[in-house]
Amino acid sequence: MLIRVDNLAKHYPIAGGFFGHRTVGAVRAVDGVSFSIDRGETLALVGESGCGKSTTGRLLTRLIEPTAGTVRFDNMEISEMDAGELRAARRRMQLVFQDAGSSFNPRMTVGALIAEPMHLAGASAADCKARVQELLPLVGLAAEHTDRYPHEFSGGQRQRIGIARALALRPDFVVCDEPVSALDVSVQAQVINLLTRLQREFGLTYLFISHDLRVVRHVADRVAVMYLGRIVEIADKATLYKAPQHPYTRALLSAVPAHRPGAVRKKTEVVGEIASARAVPSGCRYHTRCPYVMPICRTEEPELTELGATHSSACHLVQTSH
Ligand code: SF4
Repeated sequence: MLIRVDNLAKHYPIAGGFFGHRTVGAVRAVDGVSFSIDRGETLALVGESGCGKSTTGRLLTRLIEPTAGTVRFDNMEISEMDAGELRAARRRMQLVFQDAGSSFNPRMTVGALIAEPMHLAGASAADCKARVQELLPLVGLAAEHTDRYPHEFSGGQRQRIGIARALALRPDFVVCDEPVSALDVSVQAQVINLLTRLQREFGLTYLFISHDLRVVRHVADRVAVMYLGRIVEIADKATLYKAPQHPYTRALLSAVPAHRPGAVRKKTEVVGEIASARAVPSGCRYHTRCPYVMPICRTEEPELTELGATHSSACHLVQTSH
């Protein structure tokens, strides 16, 4: 196991009062999330925008500090690492963002952008240059692209630059945060194939964040479905797509075209908007939208319960029928 997360939470205080100096509540962006990822595995984290999946990715890579909970990376608790250990761990954990191009400094060449993480880590100019030349063909770019600028490239190519930059320090773990959401469908497939090939070649471990269960089907080994700061279902890919148990997972899946030609999925619409993380509903967080809501759902929050060796779900209905 490379990563283990226990009861991870991130709450942002809400200021109130006349001068805004009182804390009157909290935005519970991530609210008690636990999972692990094996070496070389891809865990997909799926849910609607605002469910806390990107915040989870940032907590794992320590871009933001958690309010509670633990993250163990390669058997070491991140919060107990000293500055040197944390720096070393951070190099081994990288992020690929949705629109890598928008975060690039437009005045930097592709070579400089890819080399920047190495440069900041103290690598020599010669080592940076050699690594850039090694990375460009690996991500499907040409050596002569080194001296060009990001605006000269298409969205898919800019994403390849972002991936090369993420790989510059030879990480073990990469958080891919909606890496293909901003791309055309045909380009999405190319970038996903690239990520899959690089994973095989370098034994990478991925947390693949997406709102789209169609995209995730091509990359995930396991899928965790997140709703309003909590994981409501987690399973190996085959089980999740064949026998989803949580009403929210079923609703998300019903929007995805069936995999086999001719197969028809029963439609279960996701109704209404996701509730606010500022005012999390009592009991089951999904009860304001769930067509199967029961009295217990409004008062008691269901725990993530094991349904099988690789399958857990947090739903009163599922738990009573098992
Ligand atoms: Fe629906 Fe109740 Fe299950 Fe929540 S616990 S998903 S409200 S049936």
